[in-house]
Amino acid sequence: MSSKPSNPAHLPAPTAHPLPSYLNADHVGPWGIFLQQVDRVEPYLGNLARWVETLKRPKRILIVDVPIHLDDGSVAHFEGYRVQHNTSRGPGKGGVRFHQDVTLSEVMALSAWMSVKNAAVNVPYGGAKGGIRVDPKTLSRGELERMTRRYTSEIGIIIGPNKDIPAPDVNTNDQIMAWMMDTYSMNQGSTATGVVTGKPVDLGGSLGRREATGRGVFTVGVEAAKHIGMDVSKARVAVQGFGNVGGVAGKLFAEAGARVVAVQDHGGTIYREAGLDVPALLRHVAEHGSVGGFKDAEVLANDKFWEVPCDILIPAALEQQITKTNAGRIQAKMIIEGANGPTTPEADDILHERNILVLPDVIANAGGVTVSYFEWVQDFSSFFWDEDEINARLVKVMRDAFTAIWQVSNDHKVSLRTATFIVACKRILHTRELRGLYP
Ligand code: GLU
Repeated sequence: MSSKPSNPAHLPAPTAHPLPSYLNADHVGPWGIFLQQVDRVEPYLGNLARWVETLKRPKRILIVDVPIHLDDGSVAHFEGYRVQHNTSRGPGKGGVRFHQDVTLSEVMALSAWMSVKNAAVNVPYGGAKGGIRVDPKTLSRGELERMTRRYTSEIGIIIGPNKDIPAPDVNTNDQIMAWMMDTYSMNQGSTATGVVTGKPVDLGGSLGRREATGRGVFTVGVEAAKHIGMDVSKARVAVQGFGNVGGVAGKLFAEAGARVVAVQDHGGTIYREAGLDVPALLRHVAEHGSVGGFKDAEVLANDKFWEVPCDILIPAALEQQITKTNAGRIQAKMIIEGANGPTTPEADDILHERNILVLPDVIANAGGVTVSYFEWVQDFSSFFWDEDEINARLVKVMRDAFTAIWQVSNDHKVSLRTATFIVACKRILHTRELRGLYP
């Protein structure tokens, strides 16, 4: 019996069949943006480009119906998703968001960005993401819990500590992770803390996880500032979104001496040239749910946020915020993407031409999943580290990853986004090739 060639390099390349309609490049929205980003990286992939189709097709897409009893006794149905984009490097990993604008296209793109992000910081995960199309502010606490539990049960067939590990994202938090962990554990008959990350510290969560994404944003910002000769202690910072990511990043920049001059969230846009009182603003947001109504600040029209005089702009809310209509007005020298997908490809080009440095999401906000990885490792070993150790390890991972990407960006004369995609996609496709196709 003749044996098949064992060297994967000798295997014929997979044939490029047209993409199914729901994956099509004509797709506008986040998935279409991801496909454009893949096109930009393809010329730099060398022989691994033969596997590039892998990136354009999520491995597994699950759409679930989530019916629950509302408090008034009626039944409501919500649309839930879990997409595993790629698992070549390890289990799927990525957050779950609850938002009224969640769509399949968005969750697919977010799952793909997780594959890239996890490979960029070299944590041993593939990429996944989930979401429910719902405005959680319209639900009572009981309704929120029932929806979370039913959703977890429905996606329970594809998640697990070694399969796919959800985490918090937009409008989800440690309490929601506790309900997800409990539901999964109840269904399987034993406690599995490692099935989600971002849990409460008393339930197998990690110290430093809540602040990790913002800390990572700050860390890469400081590294990049060194490269372009910017003094962070004198910088003016504008932040969109003042929650887990933007709020923490704003606080760390303010502690480093920077002036946080403008903040925008769903409650409006506030500005103070001399710098906002960040600790007071954080207390205000914790109490009132948004920056709206904060004293000691001017109120700006929302669109004016994009043109405030500043050195560092941190979009830390949702995707597609920096577009061709506002990219030309941005005054910052550096943009740090705390959010996933905040800049459209057209805007990326405008910013590049205008010599504005963009630190892309796939590296800038990787601090969250990096500490998620630490949490997962701690859960497996049931041995927990102190916060200093976690923060020190986080800073090292982020700095090392950023330095390598900066080098690739210089070597190939490409943007940091394309450089991050080069590093990450090569890692993903290399494991794809090593593993080969089954059967
Ligand atoms: N939702 C976060 C992100 O977009 C964290 C994901 C995780 O920790 O798995 O990176």
